Amino acid sequence: MHELGLLRAVVRAVDGAAAKAGAQTVERVGLRVGSLSGAVPEVLSGAWPLAIAGTRLAGADLVIEETVAAIWCDACHSEQPVDQFYALRCPACGAPCGNLVRGREFEVAYADIPERAG
Ligand SMILES: [Zn+2]
Repeated sequence: MHELGLLRAVVRAVDGAAAKAGAQTVERVGLRVGSLSGAVPEVLSGAWPLAIAGTRLAGADLVIEETVAAIWCDACHSEQPVDQFYALRCPACGAPCGNLVRGREFEVAYADIPERAG
């Protein structure tokens, strides 16, 4: 399950940010996950409790923002959404197209870290 490894890296980064802010907890973490990132949102949610156990993130909510992958097609002069079967061709006109403009994201969108009390 490589999702757990991905989450552990996220947790390490956010935990470090919380430590720097002097926070003992993190309330919520937003993750931006592209549809071609290779990470499955359902699996991420399932692995989340395991990834955050014993860290400042324990108990934090995970909010996943899914990004639908898209290419820019020069022939159509427009963006076209692509699915997981995208094979370097525009789904609308069939022209060869490798201009992926989004869809491979796997990044922290935000982390709600409470301000240090007092
Ligand atoms: Zn096209």
